[in-house]
Amino acid sequence: MSSIGSGIGVAVLPDIYCYTDQIVNLVLIGNPGETTEFVLIDTGMPKSAGQIKDMIQERFGENATPKAIVLTHGHFDHVGSIADLLEDWKIPVYAHEKELPYLTGKENYPPGDPNVDSGLVAKMSTMFPNHGIDISAQVQPLPSDGTVPCMQEGWKWIHTPGHTPGHISLFREQDRTLIAGDAFVTVKQESLYKVITQTQEISGPPRYFTTDWDTAYQSVQKLAALKPQVAVTGHGIPMNGEALSKNLKYLVEHFNEVAKPASGKYVN
Ligand SMILES: [Zn+2]
Ligand SMILES: [Zn+2]
Repeated sequence: MSSIGSGIGVAVLPDIYCYTDQIVNLVLIGNPGETTEFVLIDTGMPKSAGQIKDMIQERFGENATPKAIVLTHGHFDHVGSIADLLEDWKIPVYAHEKELPYLTGKENYPPGDPNVDSGLVAKMSTMFPNHGIDISAQVQPLPSDGTVPCMQEGWKWIHTPGHTPGHISLFREQDRTLIAGDAFVTVKQESLYKVITQTQEISGPPRYFTTDWDTAYQSVQKLAALKPQVAVTGHGIPMNGEALSKNLKYLVEHFNEVAKPASGKYVN
């Protein structure tokens, strides 16, 4: 399963590069015109380590290695290649404290719920791996003061739970840049057609894996209140400006219709 943008990267800003690996986005933060230092946000699908390294070398030069990896959360499509990458990279990985059980082999995520949507990706979600991974040797909790180690001053992490207990987003106040992870996405991720064509459409967190809808709603409200100018989400094409503010407002005002499934294992 791949989308039209798979293997393609786009510089959303000079220091924000969004790369699509099949159905999920990774982000490189750092301006290659100014520095050789950068941080990788999320690590794509399983078996993508080679492509991810190629993409990084193309942008930052031969043997370029990130200073750190920051994980928005630990779902398989965001940590898929992390173990392979860490074999070569002796670098720290940061995630929210509440996500650590899924990253240290202690807990598994609840299985995907195929009944939340008629879309084919939702139907396929029972086949998606839900087991936690174990990268205990390298993963560390994010500092409680909101700063992000190895990232430039100005970046803060924000706890945006609901999709998972320790889900985080990243925000830079100066230019209101948001890395939203799966707190909300810009493609209807449950629909195979829309994933493949990358039809731009704001949506709540991917339904099949979201377990706490009230909290997910609060997280969307929290992010909308930041009034982001640019948003890079875990799935879908980055959104900015008026399209972003209009769509986010719409999502907040119509969350129950647009985002939350009418029924499902994790609804109510
Ligand atoms: Zn997810
Ligand atoms: Zn995802």
